[in-house]
Formats: sequence, C-alpha cells, structure tokens
Amino acid sequence: MNATKYHAENDTASIQPGSRWGQVYRTLEGQGIAVAGGRASSVGVGGFILGGGISYYTGKRGLVCDSVVRFEVVLANGDVVLADKENHSDLFVALKGGSSNFGIVTRFDLETFPSTAIWGGIVMYPKVVGPQMINVLSAFTANIGEDPASSSIVAWLYLPTVKDTLIMATYENNEGVINAPAFKEYLAVQPQISSTLRVTNWTSITEELGDPGGLDKSWFTLTFKNDVRVMRKAVELHEALVEEMKATTGEEGFSTICMLQPLPAVTSRLAEGNGGNVLGLERLEENAILFLASMGVVDPEFAPLGMKKAQDWVGAVEAYAKSLDADIEYLFLNYAHGSQSPLRSYGSENVAKMKKVATKYDPDRVFQTLLPGGFKISQVDEATVIRDEL
Ligand SMILES: Cc1cc2nc3c(=O)[nH]c(=O)nc-3n(C[C@H](O)[C@H](O)[C@H](O)COP(=O)(O)OP(=O)(O)OC[C@H]3O[C@@H](n4cnc5c(N)ncnc54)[C@H](O)[C@@H]3O)c2cc1C
Repeated sequence: MNATKYHAENDTASIQPGSRWGQVYRTLEGQGIAVAGGRASSVGVGGFILGGGISYYTGKRGLVCDSVVRFEVVLANGDVVLADKENHSDLFVALKGGSSNFGIVTRFDLETFPSTAIWGGIVMYPKVVGPQMINVLSAFTANIGEDPASSSIVAWLYLPTVKDTLIMATYENNEGVINAPAFKEYLAVQPQISSTLRVTNWTSITEELGDPGGLDKSWFTLTFKNDVRVMRKAVELHEALVEEMKATTGEEGFSTICMLQPLPAVTSRLAEGNGGNVLGLERLEENAILFLASMGVVDPEFAPLGMKKAQDWVGAVEAYAKSLDADIEYLFLNYAHGSQSPLRSYGSENVAKMKKVATKYDPDRVFQTLLPGGFKISQVDEATVIRDEL
C-alpha cells in the first residue's frame, strides 16, 4: 500500500502508509504539488506522521501530523473509519502523536500546496568550528519567527571511515531564497570541507539526507531550552564518548551522531486550526532545542555496551540541563529509545486523553497486547505522571 494520489478539488493528497517519502515527493512534484513530509527520502510515511513528524516546513506549517485532514483507520474489530475534525474527532486528535495505540492507519489525507524551488544542502566542517556553530545555532533558533521558511540541523558525526568527528549542517529555505539572511552567520563559519548548497527540488534534497545503514544503532532524544551551556555539554560529552569507544571497539568499530536542531514554539498554535494534537507542545514558551543521540556499532557483540554508553551520555546531558533548569519534559517519539517514554512526556491531560481513546476504540486492548513494538499507552502510569507534574 504505497500509492499517492493528488486531489486538485480540495488541495489534499491521499498517501498510503507503506510509502516512503521519496516516492511521495516524486509523485507529487511531477504535478507541481508539495506536502510537508520527511527530510530523508528513505523514511516511511506511517510511523513518521503518527509520531509528530518534523519537516522542512515546521516553522511555517507546524508538525506534519497537523497537516493531516483525515485518517482512514482500521480498528481492532475490523471496522474501517474515517477520522477528521467532524467525525471520530477524538481519534483524529489522538493519532497526532499517539502512534500505533488506536488502529492501523491505511490512508493519510494531507494538505497540499504548490511546490516551489528549494535552496539548500549539506555543508561539512571540521570539528574545530564546533563552539562557533553552537552560538550560531542558538541565535538561529531564537530568531526562527523572523524567517520561518528557513530551517537547519547541526550534527557532530563520528565517522569510522574518517576516524574523526566532523560537523554536518543542513540548511534549507523552502521558498528557494538563495543565502537567505537567516543563514548569514552560518555561512560565515569557516573553514568548510564541502558544500552541496544549490537551488533544487525536494526529491533531490531528501535523497541527500540518508541513513548510511549497516550498523546496529540506538537512538535517544531529549528536549531542552535554547541554552548554549547545555549544547556545549552535549558536544563535550560526545567527544569523551568517542574516545572511550575508540579504545573499546577500535577506530573503525562504531559511529555516533550528536544532533541539535530547533523545535519552534509556534507548532502548537499552528496545530490548533487543524483540531490540535496530543503532544503537549503548548508548554513550550520559547523555541527549544531537540537533541538526537545515536550510537551504531559494526560488531553486534558491542551493541549492549554501545547502547549503555549512549544512555549514560544522554542521562548526563539530561542531568546537566536539569541542574540549570533548562530541561523540557517533551520527548520526540520519532527519535526516542525504547527505554524512554515519549507518550508520558506529553503530560497528564494528554495521557488521560490517549487512554480514553484507546479504551473506546480498542476495548479488547488488541493494539496494547498483540502488536509488537512501539510505545504503548497502557504502559504509562497516569498517577505517576500527575504526581511528577505537581
Ligand atoms: C535517515 C532518517 C531520517 C529521519 N528524518 C526524520 C525527520 O526529518 N523528521 C522526523 O520527524 N523523523 C525523522 N526520522 C525518524 C522517523 O520519523 C522514525 O524513524 C519513524 O518511526 C519512521 O516511520 P516508519 O513508518 O518508517 O517506521 P516504522 O518503524 O515502520 O514505524 C514506527 C512506529 O509506527 C507504527 N506505525 C507505522 N505505520 C503505521 C500505521 N500505518 N498505522 C499505525 N501504526 C503505524 C509502527 O507500528 C511503529 O510502532 C528519521 C529517521 C531516519 C532513519
């Protein structure tokens, strides 16, 4: 089930969940149409949207789940329902962030808009520019509201092929503006190792941001305030981790990612117009930083050790952010590790809402007990969430 169909009469596209974003862009771009979707072509549509979904349009249009106008869902009893603002509106809202807890989505109807040229690409830097990049990322994050069409990601990557850490930055302007003023400070950072910045289309941009694959990887996430001290700590601890891993697996035995990107506070306001979601992002008072930590090992024998080291690294960053009162409770489901609890991080009101919807649409708990993997709402203890919030 991987078809994409554009409906000119109501500016939507029906996308089937077995599709990857690359297929969606290739289909729509040929018709001059765009949707907000994944930033890497290889990523699947289903899990991405149900976990929230950050796109190159997030500053302007909010999260991708809030671009959904209708879900077609197969419920546990086999009924097929359409959930939108008017019909099954509780299910419609819960699916936006609540992942696989309520049914199997068999169609996403997403808002469309005319596609334009895109300016962007990947710039690689040596790690020596790290402190400067953190300052620039922080200023960029603070000022997203001034140019919501521009977005960026900055990541410290330990690459076994290079045997060193390099910095990868992605810059994109979704209106095709070349060197938009928002990127002035980024573009002044020198030296650059390489740059692919150009005017192009989504198919090309999203094919560039791939997952090298091949390694046994663990991902973890945190959200914190736009505070350069926490970002410096995350990078400093990453470098220490790299040295430890080199001594353990050898220089070619692992890879890591220490990724920082803005999470615009405007997303919850943008969500309201489409019925809202369960992410609890209205708690963001200012633009925040989303942190993704990843560890991959070549030899699966080292996987438990690599995971433990990554977990300790993330725990230390979290403790440091807490010590500065710079931590934010929200965990982005799409980047979260199985040991983390993103659903819990949405707050007690949303946990209660998701539990109610799960009980209503799946009274026999089929998706809580028979569907393997994913984050289960039944495993979130509501009483603990409320106690922690008090
Ligand atoms: C290279 C790369 C780039 C990425 N870039 C981004 C990015 O730009 N923005 C972002 O937000 N995330 C990004 N991600 C993270 C990505 O969103 C998650 O990995 C997400 O889980 C991918 O969805 P999937 O359908 O491919 O995954 P799956 O592992 O298939 O699904 C994830 C979860 O969703 C459930 N699920 C999937 N489809 C359905 C359905 N139809 N109905 C009900 N439940 C379903 C599954 O049961 C599972 O629990 C990226 C990941 C990678 C590897």
